[in-house]
Amino acid sequence: MLAEVELSQPRVAETVELLQALIRNRCVNTGERSAGHEVRNADVLAQFLGSTVDTQVYDAAPGRRSLVARIEGSDPAAPSLGLLAHTDVVPADDQDWLRDPFGGELVDGAVWGRGAIDMLNMTACMAAAMRTLGATGFRPRGDIVFVAAADEEARAEFGARYLLERHRDDVLTDYVLTEGGGWPLTAGPRPKLSWATADKGTAWLRLRVRGRAGHAAMPYGADNALVKAAEVVRRLHTHRVSPVISDVWRGWVAGMGFDAEVAAGLLDERSVLSVAREQTGDVAAAAHACTHLTITPTMARGGVAINAIPECVEIDVDARTLPGQTRGEVASEIRNALGELDPEVTIEWLHELSTTQSPLSTPVFDTVKDVTRAIVPGTELVPSLITASTDAEYFRRHGAKAYGFSITTDYVSPTEFAAMFHGPNERIDVRSLALSTTLWERLARSF
Ligand SMILES: [Zn+2]
Repeated sequence: MLAEVELSQPRVAETVELLQALIRNRCVNTGERSAGHEVRNADVLAQFLGSTVDTQVYDAAPGRRSLVARIEGSDPAAPSLGLLAHTDVVPADDQDWLRDPFGGELVDGAVWGRGAIDMLNMTACMAAAMRTLGATGFRPRGDIVFVAAADEEARAEFGARYLLERHRDDVLTDYVLTEGGGWPLTAGPRPKLSWATADKGTAWLRLRVRGRAGHAAMPYGADNALVKAAEVVRRLHTHRVSPVISDVWRGWVAGMGFDAEVAAGLLDERSVLSVAREQTGDVAAAAHACTHLTITPTMARGGVAINAIPECVEIDVDARTLPGQTRGEVASEIRNALGELDPEVTIEWLHELSTTQSPLSTPVFDTVKDVTRAIVPGTELVPSLITASTDAEYFRRHGAKAYGFSITTDYVSPTEFAAMFHGPNERIDVRSLALSTTLWERLARSF
């Protein structure tokens, strides 16, 4: 472990203060064009970096500002390294929290607030590393580029996608490191941290369930769209999709070090879920999401008046695909789930992204592994699939090899850690911030 003296450096205090400022800026992204206000966080980062590195800002729409900082390399042919962060956060409901979600309070060695782990923590650590690298006159071989993008939490229209489409040369690097990895997978002395190599695909759909309008006072024999929609939701929820054992799942099972019998059970389609359920922690939820196309109804709306039988009800569905799965497979699973209700339901595709994946073994993997072990001896990096999606996928589509990683301690259990993403009481310990800042700085120096 890093000596305590290294953890108490003024630099750590600066990282903590920067994270607090980013949290307090409340860059909440609801998905609307007028939301986010990432200009506030971009400006805080610009001020923090000052003249230590070259910075540039990009406004995709009013208030939707991203910041890019670059340390020019000495060899144009050398591979470039990107540190990819985002500056927006998802909403938080005060009532569910023990602390003010936008207070950025430092309590018992942890910073609390929305974004503390997704991913303002990494944004602050990456910025702190860039500032130190710049201030000490470090000259890498390949360019080091820090991208603090807006709009990751919605569709990246005002962030990563905009930057890659309009300013590709300013932001694209050969290798990209970002969020989605570095999760503590086990508690204890030999930490296992996730090394995220792939993102699941996304399919957002709107189902429309049709009925016939009528007076609610005479419901006998009515064709009530809401009643049918309730059954549609129930069927989507109980529908069983067949598991798929992918390479990245095999890598995860091998990396977690289960005993042989458990590992064999987790790699067999017939037993993966039953064996996963017998394991402690989050294994069942991870195993399910990593081996299944998931179909989750999340929103419903319909009806026009309390005394009118609704003619149409809409159900929004969040589906996530595994590597190789197509739109056709999503549609046919939904049709199977609906059964004889199928003709009464139409499907509209709202948003769709296929899965993206980077090769496991690359020079950056070896360097990250060595640097991490020098900071936290004995750490294992476990290949993982991100069950949601991150900005990594847009960079992969433009040819980058992109991975999710950072260093997170076991200050909370793996289960509690996973529950903080988009959940209440999000917080990060100062030790993780210190370790990750050191990681980014040493990685840039070693790459
Ligand atoms: Zn995030």
